[in-house]
Amino acid sequence: MTTTVAAYAAPAAKAPLERTTVERRAVGPHDVLIDIKFVGICHSDIHQVREGWGEAIFPMVPGHEIAGIVAEVGAGVTEHRVGDRVGVGCMVDSCRVCDNCKAGLEQYCDQVPVWTYNAVGKDGQPTYGGYSQRVVVDENYVVRIPEALGLDVAAPLLCAGITTYSPLRHWNTGPGRKVAVVGFGGLGHVAVKLAHALGAEVTVLSQSLRKQEDGLRLGADHYRATGDPATFEELAGSFDLILNTVSAPLDFAAYFKLLRTDGAMVNLGLPEEPVQIELRSLSGGRRSLSSSGIGGIAETQEMLDFCAEHGVVAEIELIRADEINDAYERVLASDVRYRFVIDTATI
Ligand code: NAP
Ligand code: ZN
Ligand code: ZN
Repeated sequence: MTTTVAAYAAPAAKAPLERTTVERRAVGPHDVLIDIKFVGICHSDIHQVREGWGEAIFPMVPGHEIAGIVAEVGAGVTEHRVGDRVGVGCMVDSCRVCDNCKAGLEQYCDQVPVWTYNAVGKDGQPTYGGYSQRVVVDENYVVRIPEALGLDVAAPLLCAGITTYSPLRHWNTGPGRKVAVVGFGGLGHVAVKLAHALGAEVTVLSQSLRKQEDGLRLGADHYRATGDPATFEELAGSFDLILNTVSAPLDFAAYFKLLRTDGAMVNLGLPEEPVQIELRSLSGGRRSLSSSGIGGIAETQEMLDFCAEHGVVAEIELIRADEINDAYERVLASDVRYRFVIDTATI
């Protein structure tokens, strides 16, 4: 039998979110029913609610930074038990048989993963995300949240954490490596903490020095303003790796010049507008431009365990559900410190 649960949804593109209810599927043999306690607000939620990435499915219940407690398990579930502290990120299923799925890269599934919301599930029904009180998810797409991590500050790790951990690991971040993080918002502040915990020398490249004190406190060795042209002159040829977390188009050519020979700029930000790149700016120094999308399920678990071991959590502003629309405006104004998290008891 399906269950009706309270949720916050956008009824149409660009419309404010409002309280409503959605149906959750009956708990199948391999499903886990999760009582959602906290859910983060990712900038991707806002892009999709505004149809900034193209046509979307409405009503839309966003939310893919889900932390909660297992309330019920199907008869065949082996990975999770009632009472466990668990998380769900951007995916709730994938084809499971393609090379990427078999390699633990479910996020790059050949058939495209079933996204946590704004997608159609294998049952043919639209998926609804975590701005809600309960969700039913296949056990293989649910991860354990270690005891050392508070559920509220762990929730953002399910997207912001894995999205930055995966490229940091892929590009061998560690002692002796110089990493720059462009944009000090939700992804950016977690990237700084993770890169610092991995032992790299970390520089934040932010629009201004407004958040400098926080940046240095949270693990950055240097904090520079991109609004100051001297930043680009003085840091030319400095970095092994640049992670771009900016949600808007960027002048990539200016950043490529900050890379060392063989350095890489990994793009994580997904702006709504196309970006023009002067390719000549890449050719010197064998520099590369790369991309990365969230991370696989096993790597998400590895990231959470790493965060527990190193005390990495998100800096959050806990809000009530009726504050979501105001929070969206603040995110759009780069006025987030540093992730809004919804207390789902207020939905
Ligand atoms: P966020 O909290 O809004 O942070 C973005 C930061 O970018 C802002 O805090 C700001 O930092 C900077 N910024 C914003 N507008 C700017 C502009 N016009 N020029 C220069 N800098 C600007 O967003 P988020 O949740 O971290 O997400 C960031 C982007 O990553 C979004 O586009 C999101 O969709 C995307 N994303 C991608 C993945 C993936 O798998 N690749 C996963 C999650 C999110 P400063 O104030 O420090 O300048
Ligand atoms: Zn996200
Ligand atoms: Zn697949």
